[in-house]
Amino acid sequence: MANKFTYHYRIFGCQMNVADAHDLSARLDQYGGQPVDTPAEADLVLVNTCMVRAKAEDKALSYFGELKHLKGTGGGKMLVALGCVVRRSRERILKAHPHLDLLLDYSDPDGVLESLCEHFAPLKGIVPTGEFTPLYDAGDCRQHFVTAIRGCHHGCSYCVVPLARGPQRDVPLERIVGEAKALEQAGAPDLTVLGQNILSYGTTSGDREPRFVEMMETLLKETKFPWVTFLTSLPTDLTDEICEKVISNPRVTPLLHLPLQAGSDRVLASMKRGHTMEHYRRIISKAREQRPDLYLTTDLLVGFPTETEEDFQETLKAAEEIGFDDAFMFAYSERPGTLAARKFADKLPRTEKLRRLNELIRLQREWGAKRNARYVGQELDVIIERCENGDITARTAFNKPVLQNQRMQP
Ligand code: SAH
Repeated sequence: MANKFTYHYRIFGCQMNVADAHDLSARLDQYGGQPVDTPAEADLVLVNTCMVRAKAEDKALSYFGELKHLKGTGGGKMLVALGCVVRRSRERILKAHPHLDLLLDYSDPDGVLESLCEHFAPLKGIVPTGEFTPLYDAGDCRQHFVTAIRGCHHGCSYCVVPLARGPQRDVPLERIVGEAKALEQAGAPDLTVLGQNILSYGTTSGDREPRFVEMMETLLKETKFPWVTFLTSLPTDLTDEICEKVISNPRVTPLLHLPLQAGSDRVLASMKRGHTMEHYRRIISKAREQRPDLYLTTDLLVGFPTETEEDFQETLKAAEEIGFDDAFMFAYSERPGTLAARKFADKLPRTEKLRRLNELIRLQREWGAKRNARYVGQELDVIIERCENGDITARTAFNKPVLQNQRMQP
C-alpha cells in the first residue's frame, strides 16, 4: 500500500476525457489517493486538456497560469498536464509554464498511472497490476462510461482529434466486458460505451472488420444493464444491420448521437465526412422505423471555410427537415495541422460565423422544443441523480434532465 496523498483532477473537453479521469481516479483511490475539491488542497494536480476548438485550448492554457501561484507554497505539490494540448504544443507549454512538473501527451489511465509511479513520490515503487475497481459513488449517478476505442483515424478535414489523440486503438473486447461487469457489480444503473467513432470498433484489430455489432451483442449478453448507450457514431458507418441488431434492442437507449455537421453535400465532401445527405436521410428513416422512440441528437458546424450563405441555408433546411431533438452547435475554429487549415484560408469573418451560429441556435431551439413537446403527458423511466429536501434531479434514458421541485407540487 502506498502512502496516502490528496489529488485534484481538472477536466477540460469531451466525455473521453471524463472517462479517462474517472478511470484514473479509481486507480489512484486504490493506491492511497483521496480526491479534494481544490488544487490548493492537493498534493497532486492533474489537468486533462482539450484542443478541439481554439477556445478550449485557451482555457487549459490559462488554467495552467492560474496554478502558478501554488508552486513554492511548500509541501512539494506536483502539477501534471495531460492529453491533447500537450501532444500538440509540448514546447510552447514548457516555455510558458515552467512551473508544471510533468507533461504527458496522453490521458489513458494505465499509461498515466505508470508515469506517476515513476515520478510522484507517494506512488514510487508501486507496480500497477492493471486491475482496478471502477469508481462508483451511489450519491453521484451521472452516466457511467467504458472506453472501447482510443484515438481516431477517420480524418475529417477540420478535426484535430486524430492528431491530438493519435490513431484509433481498440480496447480488447474482454477488457470492455470486464470493466462493464465491474461497474455493474458496483451498482451502476447504466452504461455508456465510448469511442470517437464507436461504429468502427474492431477495424484496428487483426481482421480489420468492424465488430461493433458483436461488441454490443456481447456486452448486452454479459451484463444486465437496462440502459446501454453508445457514443459517438459517424453517419457513414451506420448500416441497416446496426439499426436492426443494435438500435432495435430495447436495452439500448433510444439516444442516437449522429453528427451531421452540415446540410450541403459539397461542404460535407470538403469536410471529408464520408456521408451524403441522401445516406443520412435514409439511415435515419431506417433507425426511426426500428425505434419509433428514437431521440436523435447531432453536432452542427457552421462557417467551414468553403461554406457559402446558400450552403448555410441548406444546413438550416436539413436540420428542420430531419428534426433533431437536440444539437451541439459550433462555429468553425481553425486547428493547426488539420487538412482544412492547410488547404483553405479561414477568411470568413468571425462576426459572420457567429451570425450563422446564432441563427442556427435560435431556430434549433424552436424545432427542438416542438419535438420535445411529444413527451408532455408521457410517463418515462428515469434515474434519480440527486434528491435534496424533496427536490429531485433525474435523467431519462436519453439523458434529458428531469427536475421536480418541492415548491412546484400542488
Ligand atoms: N468524433 C466525433 C466528434 C469529435 S469533436 C465525430 O466525428 O462526430 C465534437 C464536435 O466538435 C464535432 O462533431 C464538431 O462538430 C466539432 N468540431 C470539431 N472540430 C472543430 C473545429 N475545428 N471547429 C469547430 N468545431 C469543431
